[in-house]
Amino acid sequence: MKVLLLGGTTEARRLAGMIDGEADVVTSLAGRTTEPLRPAGEVRVGGFGGVDGLVRYLRDERIDAVVDATHPFAATISGNAAVACGASGVPLLILQRPGWTAVPGDDWHRVASLPEAAGRLPRLGRRVFLTTGRQGIAHFAALDDCWFLARSVEPPAGTVPRHLEVLLDRGPFTVPAERDLITRHRVDVLVTKDSGGSDAKLVAARELGIPVLMVNRPPAPDATTVSTADAALSWLRTLGR
Ligand code: NAP
Repeated sequence: MKVLLLGGTTEARRLAGMIDGEADVVTSLAGRTTEPLRPAGEVRVGGFGGVDGLVRYLRDERIDAVVDATHPFAATISGNAAVACGASGVPLLILQRPGWTAVPGDDWHRVASLPEAAGRLPRLGRRVFLTTGRQGIAHFAALDDCWFLARSVEPPAGTVPRHLEVLLDRGPFTVPAERDLITRHRVDVLVTKDSGGSDAKLVAARELGIPVLMVNRPPAPDATTVSTADAALSWLRTLGR
């Protein structure tokens, strides 16, 4: 069996390691990160060329199953995968970690998009810890009255806010380190996408009593969905039987 694993996440890397040896696995990365952590098995890098390119790839590479383990906010590739798999008759599984849920003590403000977050932000705080990834920073570029500490794996691309400090770093992060960062920079609001996974920054925000502007996930395609690499492996095994 040959599996195409649409990656770029910790879960995808973990699943590649679990599949490797049991089946052929090709992890596909978009190519946004200059030094990506390489998963086990084969790796290909770069876009397919839309739905048509992906349909061609599935056919030419004789792919038996696709696991879409991309980030919950990577909506275009997920939509393309659903359409291409439907057109090709290739089984598709979505592996997506659960989103976060507020608990007592949290002061969360949910919004539908990054532009909406930028519109709401000045009413919530002026010293902003921005953790929406480097592609998201440009949405906040017009907010001259706010100061931003933006954390991302790669330097921001495009226009950036006038008052900006960039922190290049890759998780996982711990609660004490997040608390220290927020306190040291006198941050009074956290902006994040509802990515799920490690919630250290959210715990730190709760403990320090600062509000969180939480960007909701875009809708996911209608397909079988699991939330763990173990469940994805079980699904693949049922196909292999
Ligand atoms: P996107 O907007 O959904 O995709 C834009 C285009 O990039 C797609 O149409 C596709 O090009 C190409 N692409 C995306 N993921 C790909 C993959 N795994 N393999 C091959 N081509 C891919 O994606 P994005 O939000 O820019 O995210 C890009 C990658 O970064 C994803 O793999 C995702 O898992 C990872 N990532 C994203 C975020 C986030 O917040 N969005 C956070 C962490 C990691 P073609 O149409 O030419 O095929």
